[in-house]
Amino acid sequence: MPTSRRANTRRKPAPRSVHKKPSVQGAGMERRASASAAKMSSARLAGAAKKIARALIGAYPDARCMLDHTSAFQLLVATILAAQCTDERVNMVTPALFKRFPNAVAMAEAELEELESLIRSTGFFHNKAKSIKGASAVLAKNCPGSFPHLMEDLVSLPGVGRKTANVVLGECFGVPAIIVDTHFRRVIQRLGLTENDDPDRIEEDIAELLPQKDWTAFSHAITFHGRKCCTAREPNHADCPVRELCPSRDL
Ligand code: SF4
Repeated sequence: MPTSRRANTRRKPAPRSVHKKPSVQGAGMERRASASAAKMSSARLAGAAKKIARALIGAYPDARCMLDHTSAFQLLVATILAAQCTDERVNMVTPALFKRFPNAVAMAEAELEELESLIRSTGFFHNKAKSIKGASAVLAKNCPGSFPHLMEDLVSLPGVGRKTANVVLGECFGVPAIIVDTHFRRVIQRLGLTENDDPDRIEEDIAELLPQKDWTAFSHAITFHGRKCCTAREPNHADCPVRELCPSRDL
């Protein structure tokens, strides 16, 4: 695998009209905000996105990746474990896991049963154990003593999608990264910055609206905002720092 440093590889974004896809999963609030986005011109949308980014990055100056790690490999594993699980739970599990299997070579040789028992409390442990062992085997074979930092190399690993790859690229290699997790998707839809449900499409939409230098900080700020204020069940419109810019504030 090549290991030279370069910017996150992205597909060329298609025009928004091509991206447009009816929302099938979002709640009413997200759908109505998406309809609002459809009416806004691209320039106005980009202007709104920049104001929202400024406000949220300012409101959450400490927003960052919350998964404990000491290497890119550990963060890759922790991010796989974080699927459908809280960061707090993952951080309770990883110390013992990384003590037993500190690197890709050791993890690749782990017995699946032992691996599963160490990560059981994070849920979906059969699939997660297979992904972690499989990714470790490829890394141990192809990248001994190094770690890939190209998007195409990371997403070729078992169980690693663009979200996981973006977490590692943004946190460990300083590559501009848009990290579309469940909080990011919900908040971005409510803010009317995308009409899409598919994470890859949402990533493309935000990449069109914001300069690369803001991508990683914006991702963390949006995720923090989704956890602390714009929650799934009860968004706190009244105390929201981007209330005046949000088409969902009165819904
Ligand atoms: S006003 Fe704020 S809390 Fe309410 S939906 Fe919009 S972003 Fe979320």
